[in-house]
Amino acid sequence: MKLLFVLCVLSASVASCFSLDREAFTFTDYQLDVRIEPEQQRLAVRGTITLRNDSSRAQKNAALQISSGLTWRSIQAEGKPLQFVSQPYVSDIDHTGELSEAIVALPKEVPLGGTVKLAIGYEGVIVLDATRLTRIGMPKENAIHSDWDQISKSFSAVRGVGYVAWYPVAMEAGNLSEGRSLFEVLGRWKQREQKAEMEIRLSHSRDGENAPPALLCTAAGTHLVEEISRAQEAVTDCQFAPLGLRVPAFVVANYEILERPVVEIARRPEHKSNAEKFAQAAEAVAPFVTEWFGAPREKAQVVELLDPGASPFESGAMLLTPLNDTDPKLLEIALVHELTHAAFSSPRPWIYEGLAHFAQGAYRERQASRQAALDFMGLHRSAIVDAEKTIAAEAKDAPTGDESLVTTTIDEFYRSKAAYVWWMLRDLLSEETLRKVLAAYQADQDKDPAYLQRLAQAQSGRDLQWFFDDWVYHDRGLPDFRVESAYPRQASQGNYLVTVTIENLAATGAEVPVTVRFDGGETTQRVQVRGRAKGIVRIATPRPPTEITVNDGSVPESDLSNNVFRVGAPAN
Ligand SMILES: [Zn+2]
Repeated sequence: MKLLFVLCVLSASVASCFSLDREAFTFTDYQLDVRIEPEQQRLAVRGTITLRNDSSRAQKNAALQISSGLTWRSIQAEGKPLQFVSQPYVSDIDHTGELSEAIVALPKEVPLGGTVKLAIGYEGVIVLDATRLTRIGMPKENAIHSDWDQISKSFSAVRGVGYVAWYPVAMEAGNLSEGRSLFEVLGRWKQREQKAEMEIRLSHSRDGENAPPALLCTAAGTHLVEEISRAQEAVTDCQFAPLGLRVPAFVVANYEILERPVVEIARRPEHKSNAEKFAQAAEAVAPFVTEWFGAPREKAQVVELLDPGASPFESGAMLLTPLNDTDPKLLEIALVHELTHAAFSSPRPWIYEGLAHFAQGAYRERQASRQAALDFMGLHRSAIVDAEKTIAAEAKDAPTGDESLVTTTIDEFYRSKAAYVWWMLRDLLSEETLRKVLAAYQADQDKDPAYLQRLAQAQSGRDLQWFFDDWVYHDRGLPDFRVESAYPRQASQGNYLVTVTIENLAATGAEVPVTVRFDGGETTQRVQVRGRAKGIVRIATPRPPTEITVNDGSVPESDLSNNVFRVGAPAN
């Protein structure tokens, strides 16, 4: 049987031999000892992983995938070596665009819901590599600002799933040149792994003269300061229990730590003043974040990336970013996001990330004006419109699942669209009521998608079913409002009343502001317009109305070109 297995693997495609289901197993537990050797750009890992069969039938084989620069050394169960075949597997879940995949013959069939614990060993190099981006045409000099992960002598930073498979995973191939395939496989994996427990012991020996480097990871509750070991060997224990929405990542560098009450910043020695600007920005926004989301549960953390052009990356309340000399206003906007994560927790991406992006918009409003905030939110609007177009185009080939906010794995939805949902909820309920909803929210009670709706209804006394149906539980696209008609008349001496009919051409409803302009001023009222329906609003003005605009930008819309209406002369 084992021989047959090996022959089969060698002679033909594995999938056709065994109908290998790469996504059969959820990896429920990782206990890994990770030894980093920066001089050799190497990593050596020993430990155990536990796999649970979450597929629909018993499984005889399992796939274990690691980055293509790493090599499998051993896979055992119950103290006995298991037979496995290692093969390259092309997939863009790793920066190299390829994985080292071990197809393991399990000691016995694992039944549905059954688990198997494997002792594993692998090692190899993690070097700067942006193959997956360059092969789809991105110039290398740009690609390495995005795929900046590497282990190197002076600086090591390696992110987990979706960047570098430095711990074993198993999923179907994701391909950057095939629409959303990469994001879909990663989304499924992250969803399955939310409850996984991960305990990682990172270590490396320090070299004689140099100060011991800091060894950091993105686990919650990690404090940067404690991570600097004074011993010959630097060791950091990283506990992800459970993993939640975080991406396990580690950083090794000669940092100095700037510690403040709300934030810790790991910086290189020459960036003291820039780090202080980040700290000042965090302190400036902290009261705002506390007003909205309560006192922080942990410190926000900022870790410097050495490449000044590197794209920032966040995991939980940790931000990896170059510490460039940036406009303090922009720094504040960036730090509102991390401080919101440090203050407010949720197992739902659209709540966790949506609120952090919403908070940035709300802070922009505090900094400048509602219009400045809506301009800021407008960046999210274009992202959503583009994502909706992509989905619509793909749906022509194959019908896709419902990208509701509760199930979506699309960034533009659980970040950008969700930010607008929170913005609209604030407009709908009032800021005071929304804050009460957030104060009542408890992450561990959020067990069904309607939990938030129930809280919002209890605090506001309003029926919000239609809103949650259109925006949260389903993806019905974005609304498209137009002013169908506007009939002004003179109500009395010096008083005008204009009757405005707003039509919503799309399936998603919203409560939307309608602004009437007149010589010397304007006045705004809100009107609720359900999907494919009309809403009527009567607005009084002291002078003849000249122009009507529906939507000030607070509702994301697919088409903004049909929102303005010129008013004719009033009837008497
Ligand atoms: Zn975030």
